[in-house]
Amino acid sequence: MMKQQMSGEAESVLEVRDLSVAYGKVEALHSANVRVGVGQIVTVIGPNGAGKTTMLSAIMGQLAGSGEVSFVGQSQAGVSVEGRVNRGMSLVPERRELFASMTVEDNLLMGAYARYRQGLRNHQETMTEVFQRFPRLKERRNQFAGTLSGGERAMLVLGRALMAKPKVLLLDEPSLGLAPLIVKEIFHIISDLRRSGVAILLVEQNARAALQVSDFGYVLETGTIVFEGPSADLIHDQRVAETYLGAAARSLQ
Ligand code: ATP
Repeated sequence: MMKQQMSGEAESVLEVRDLSVAYGKVEALHSANVRVGVGQIVTVIGPNGAGKTTMLSAIMGQLAGSGEVSFVGQSQAGVSVEGRVNRGMSLVPERRELFASMTVEDNLLMGAYARYRQGLRNHQETMTEVFQRFPRLKERRNQFAGTLSGGERAMLVLGRALMAKPKVLLLDEPSLGLAPLIVKEIFHIISDLRRSGVAILLVEQNARAALQVSDFGYVLETGTIVFEGPSADLIHDQRVAETYLGAAARSLQ
């Protein structure tokens, strides 16, 4: 039924079929099917240890798994992480690792490195676009990344990923550990990114906020997708609401 529902929709940017990943004998992701359409924000919610980070790492090629990852209609089997970056996939990991003793501007330039190596040298133009999106980073362009606040670091890792001009951004818990006001700002930025044509696969524990900015959602529990549907339907689904959209999530709004 889901296939029929999806077939009339926009072309896929990312399609994940039967993706399974095991750490030794323990399967952390079981036969996951996920689709991100052009211009869509798709969210994966689920508790700690459900396999969300594992899913993103396998999609990016950092972890080996079985199944298929197809990006803009092409199988990524045998394509390295670097190859996937070059094709337009970009992962923003949960840990906001930056070059602490480099400036904001130099950290951004690092994000353009893969394009630079391919001979695409319009990084100054891209940086101007990133600064338009994140005026706070522009103000702090000469500041060392190690001295930024948590919210600014979250912006810088997003900005650095955008320097690669990705077609799809894989975001691993971008709101983790941030104060409620900053969380709001980050989600605002994410929903705004859609307008620039970047598709987003968003992994979040802040389920309500994530579903509110996304088109489609998946619920992952102990490695298996147990629910999926348009985000608005998931928000109103009684079991999803009871399990994932409880008082803690509501208080963040
Ligand atoms: P969180 O929200 O806490 O980040 P998650 O949904 O991202 O969790 P994963 O980090 O993907 O979950 O972990 C899924 C399962 O795989 C967990 O049980 C975890 O302990 C296990 N796991 C993750 N990385 C490894 C590893 N390198 N070796 C062995 N087991 C691992």
